[in-house]
This record gives sequence, structure tokens and C-alpha cells, in this order.
Amino acid sequence: MIVVLHPGRSEEEIQRVASRVESLGLKAHVIVGTERTVVAAVGSQRRDDDREALERLDEVDKVVPILAPYKVASRETKPEPSVVQVRDLVFGGGHIGVVAGPCSVESEEQIIETAHRVKAAGATGLRGGAFKPRTSPYAFQGLKEEGLKLLAAARDETGLAVVTEVMTPEHVELVGKYADVLQIGARNMQNYHLLQAVGETKTPVLLKRGPSATMDEFLLAAEYVLDQGNQQVVLCERGVRTFESHTRFTLPLATVPYLQERTHLPIVIDPSHGTGIASLVPSMCRAAVAVGCDGLLLEVHPNPAEAVSDAAQTISPDTFATIMDECRKIAGVLGRTVDGQA
Ligand code: PEP
Ligand code: MN
Repeated sequence: MIVVLHPGRSEEEIQRVASRVESLGLKAHVIVGTERTVVAAVGSQRRDDDREALERLDEVDKVVPILAPYKVASRETKPEPSVVQVRDLVFGGGHIGVVAGPCSVESEEQIIETAHRVKAAGATGLRGGAFKPRTSPYAFQGLKEEGLKLLAAARDETGLAVVTEVMTPEHVELVGKYADVLQIGARNMQNYHLLQAVGETKTPVLLKRGPSATMDEFLLAAEYVLDQGNQQVVLCERGVRTFESHTRFTLPLATVPYLQERTHLPIVIDPSHGTGIASLVPSMCRAAVAVGCDGLLLEVHPNPAEAVSDAAQTISPDTFATIMDECRKIAGVLGRTVDGQA
């Protein structure tokens, strides 16, 4: 249920409503919007008595059911789009946050050089995997904590926000010490213990869509994070598995407007994994910006051919700079900005 408060309620009054919600055995999520404050009252069972009890409170204007299965992620609960910001990296509110960097952190030289080059071109976030989910157990698994330290060093030099993957609940604390944004990889979209563990932190989360996940499954995965109290969730479309074998995955850009109708969470597009082919990345970036995405996640390496993982889909810093110039123009037409203007 959405408990809509009368405008201008004090913090104390909001808390009184939240406490009443919890006394009914429901979880209370306070969502402060520009127009109104609501308390989303979420629980597994629906009782008419609860609704009436809440409607009787002086602070409450009305109580309405949330029809979507994903309660806190739904636009019914929060009609205005959410903005997720960390350092200069902003997703939403007219800002297209661009996160660029290698698939894997490989060495100090590689990550520091990449950071400087993508920052110069206008990126506000630096990506790089330290814990890598690889299809083969014999493939490079990442530099682990050493990689996290190198990402932190690159952030110290450039100010870029660090986005990096966490693969298990046990590593959330360690990765959280270094990361500005915790990435949940496509393979882990339905790892519910991991989703709950990142939901218990205050660190923004970038949640990738599983390659065979439906939209409802994707949004319910986000709901696991939100339900733990972490409201800073960004969704990332990274392509789905189809019959098509010419591209690594199939990148459905209709995800952006579809999700925007249903959720207030920002939506990022990853054309690198979405296509798997470096030459297709620039045009898909332009299309993603045109379709209204709130961010881009891109694999960039100083020497793409030598990247230890995902070389075929990795672009050079020069190509990245061209993409940024083009995307800036397209964003401008739509009244949006690609942050970190070069
Ligand atoms: C990545 O971003 O390098 C990655 C492993 O992506 P995904 O989880 O989308 O496969
Ligand atoms: Mn990759």
C-alpha cells in the first residue's frame, strides 16, 4: 500500500506514520518526493483492516494499493524519476552518467592511463573488474583486492567514481571499502543473498539485467535491494540471450522507455556486452542516448587488442572520445547533458 501523507508534514509526523505501519507488521519505506511524501507499506499479506487503520491517522491523506509486484521500485509509489549521484557521476534528472574503463583491472599502468584518458574525454565514472565472473574457470579471474587498490589509486588521481563488481555476500564489505558503486553482474541478478547484502549498505548499486531475465524478474531483483533500505539503485540493460549468434547478446533498447513507464530508477545501457563487437558500440551509444537512457557503461582499454578479457568488444580511448562528442550533441537536442564536459 502507498500511504500518502498530507503536504508539509514534519519529520516527526512522518516517523509516526512509519511506526504505525511497522506496528501492523509491515515494512515502512519513507519516500520523499518533490510533490509529496509517501510511506510504502510492504508486506506479504493484504488486510483491509490495515488500510483502514492507516487511513484514520491525521497525517494521512489517502491509502492506495500498489498494483505492481515490485512495490518500492514502482512508479506508483514514486512518480518522479530518481537521481543517483556519487561524486560527479550522476544518473538521472537530465544527467547521463558515463562510466568507462577496462573489463578487468590488469595493472597499475593500464588502469591509471585509462582513467586519465576517459576523464579527459568527459567520463565521470571509472569501471574495471577486480573480481571477475568468467565463463571458464581457467580464464583470468581478476586481481581481486590488489585490483580494488589500483582502482582506488586511479580515483585518487582523477576524481572519477569507481564502479566495480561484487560477486558474493562475503565480499560486500571488502569491495565496499574501495567502490563508489557496487556492480551486480548479469550472472548474479538473481543471487538474492547478494542482493540483500548490497541492500544493507549505503553504497549505490548498479544492477545488471540477467541475460534471460524478464522485466518483472529484473525489477523484482532491484526490489530485493530496495527492500533492505538502499534506495540508490541503477538498472543496467546489458543485452539478452536470443537465437541470434552474430552478436554476443541482443541489446533491446526498448528496455529504456518500457522501464521508464514502470519504475523511477535510472536506466543505464551497456553497449559493450550488449553487442560484443567494438565496431557496433559507437552507434549503439548514440541510439541509447537518443532513446533516453540515464547512463552508459563502456569497456575502454588503452590497447583494446591486448585486453585480457572482452577484447573484441573493447574500444580505444580515441573512439571513446568521439562517442562522447556525438552523445553530447544528441543529449543536447533532448535537453539532457552528458556530464564531465571535456
Ligand atoms: C562486466 O561488466 O565486465 C561484466 C562481467 O558484465 P555482465 O555481468 O553484464 O556480463
Ligand atoms: Mn566485460
